[in-house]
Amino acid sequence: AADKEKASNVAKIKVVVRKRPLNKKELAKNEDDIITIESRSSSLTVHETKLKVDLTEYVEKHEFVFDAVLNEEVSNDEVYRETVEPIVPIIFQRTKATCFAYGQTGSGKTYTMKPLPLKASRDILRLMHHTYRNQGFQLFFSFFEIYGGKLFDLLSDRKKLCMREDGKQQVCIVGLQEYKVSDVETIQELIEKGNATRSTGITGANEESSRSHAILQLAIKRSADGSESKPPRVVGKLSFIDLAGSERGADTTDNDKQTRMEGAEINKSLLALKECIRALDNDQGHIPFRGSKLTEVLRDSFVGDSRTVMISCISPTSGSCEHTLNTLRYADRVK
Ligand code: ADP
Ligand code: MG
Repeated sequence: AADKEKASNVAKIKVVVRKRPLNKKELAKNEDDIITIESRSSSLTVHETKLKVDLTEYVEKHEFVFDAVLNEEVSNDEVYRETVEPIVPIIFQRTKATCFAYGQTGSGKTYTMKPLPLKASRDILRLMHHTYRNQGFQLFFSFFEIYGGKLFDLLSDRKKLCMREDGKQQVCIVGLQEYKVSDVETIQELIEKGNATRSTGITGANEESSRSHAILQLAIKRSADGSESKPPRVVGKLSFIDLAGSERGADTTDNDKQTRMEGAEINKSLLALKECIRALDNDQGHIPFRGSKLTEVLRDSFVGDSRTVMISCISPTSGSCEHTLNTLRYADRVK
């Protein structure tokens, strides 16, 4: 009962915004920082410069409020504490939880996401070794990506994968390598391997990682009788999704056909994701998974007792103003 209570105390959906600092290039060009965040508040203001008909400039302010707003001084440790740390204990109580990083390319999604699974694994292993000692829990690790609507294993040379449903609302990804892990060193190596595979891209072009969704999953399993004689079943799952660059969803008028198709797929998946999270929040019986590959893959994380954390990453400068407003509006709609 105490466990149940713990789980219900964690918000079903949490939306957090993180602003990155200006980089060297932006500082050298003396670019304006258009985002103000009062420290210890949950609101932020975007100062958008616009032109009147007579071409004089004026500033339009847009204020947004979220569950938490993290300024450029907030460390990755603090991001973990604010976002994932509270949901780690409840995945031992049959809860599935998902943490998304959303935002335009260059806004800090990967920087934000990369350390989170390792920190979470450390806490999960600690719980397994202390609180849940000798209860037969095992931790499994997998890492794959969705690119152009297709699945690829990031831990086995981008092997193509397919997805199947088992009729019990469990998603099965055929051929996906799942590693049983019991120490943080191994987990660190797997994270690095997957990230390296991801950033090289299928054709080796560096910008390709901005066109794929990377999905890292930590699954807690246990055999029915607590022993190791039977194949273990999933108890809870924690997924980390480094989403494709949100601006890529607008690549639908590009001259290149491939780029156009990928853009359309990304657009579709980000819209479907928003709809699924909204449906979750309203406790609707029907969750529109079928909208995209991304939401189909995450289907079993959207049913039952689930938790979602959306980290929206934003760039600070005026050159990114339009994308930043799009990101904040998306985050606003999710809640
Ligand atoms: P994305 O994955 O959204 O395309 P990245 O995570 O690769 O963006 O970030 C772009 C660049 O900005 C990287 O060089 C990264 O190290 C840097 N960066 C992002 N966020 C921060 C931050 N909060 N503090 C310091 N540097 C950051
Ligand atoms: Mg990235």
